[in-house]
Amino acid sequence: MSLPAGSTIGIIGGGQLGRMLAAAAARLGYRTVVLEPQPDCPAAQVANRQITAAYDDQTAHAELTAASAVVTYEFENVPVAAANALASTAPVYPPARALEVAQDRVTEKTFLNSIGIPTADFRPVGNDSDLTAALKAFAGNGVLKTRRMGYDGKGQRVFRNMEAGGFAGTFEAMGSVPLVLEAFVPFEREISVIAARGIDGAVAAYDPAENVHRHGILHSSTVPAGISAETAAAAQAAAKTILSALDYVGVIGVEFFVLADGSLLANEIAPRVHNSGHWTEAACVVSQFDQHIRAIAGLPLGSPSRHSNCMMENLIGDDVSRVAELLGEPDLMLHLYGKAEARPGRKMGHFTRISRRA
Ligand code: AMP
Repeated sequence: MSLPAGSTIGIIGGGQLGRMLAAAAARLGYRTVVLEPQPDCPAAQVANRQITAAYDDQTAHAELTAASAVVTYEFENVPVAAANALASTAPVYPPARALEVAQDRVTEKTFLNSIGIPTADFRPVGNDSDLTAALKAFAGNGVLKTRRMGYDGKGQRVFRNMEAGGFAGTFEAMGSVPLVLEAFVPFEREISVIAARGIDGAVAAYDPAENVHRHGILHSSTVPAGISAETAAAAQAAAKTILSALDYVGVIGVEFFVLADGSLLANEIAPRVHNSGHWTEAACVVSQFDQHIRAIAGLPLGSPSRHSNCMMENLIGDDVSRVAELLGEPDLMLHLYGKAEARPGRKMGHFTRISRRA
């Protein structure tokens, strides 16, 4: 059964993704309540109401579920126990299992491999001698990452062509938290697929975007990606396999490395709308945000097809000073997040340049 117009959707997290979800919900006739500790957050500026409290505040959770017909979230670090507790009162989409898989890089890669989706080779690292052994196994080339709570390249260290050994102190320098060493992937490009699954099990995948990162943060997404039709189809098929295996509801982002022969290794999954899918609001009739709201509200999914080619670029920190010049360009959609202060590394907005397809 679909959610009647006028119902309220609860959103955990009040950043730009929450803001875009709230705007999409309003477009589809719904109200939104946002749980976010920071007052006047980007999402609250366009939502109906903000509950200003910590993400794990149980009184706030009771308030959120009492007000909401369905609850969703804009970031993957919502505690699994909290998502399960919330789900006993109101439907929570995507399901808690997706959070559990996405929150730990070892669980994530083990899950992906178990459903036939290849990833970089990896070894859990719990101390310096694990690191030495793992680096030896990968001929001295690898990327060391925190298993949990990593995003935008934070908590990572790259090892290239190094003799395995002599890494005393690395585990402590990384914060003495569980780590994973991934084999270094000599990828040709990075792509991502944004896909959705409805409550009825219907799935839809957008065209892959080709992503460029700078300093570990997404810089741009270009569609179409410079890959073959076969590689694009394989990436979309992998995303759909993940959705079905998780009995998922909502939008997911799946990042892949593309190797020289066109084969794919999945890097990570994000159980939410994704920065590399922002282009869909300018180049598709149904954006990833509308698609997510449709999915969690039990409405039919929209078409993921694209009417334009496009390039999305993030406005990070002082990039926001380019706004006046960008607004002078035809066929450019600008999206600002309502953040007062442009700190370095802070995502302030993005724009998408489109060129219509013949
Ligand atoms: P992640 O936090 O896993 O998305 O990693 C951030 C970025 O680091 C990726 O987008 C890649 O550009 C790079 N990277 C991550 N893992 C690897 C790897 N195993 N081999 C080579 N580059 C990597």
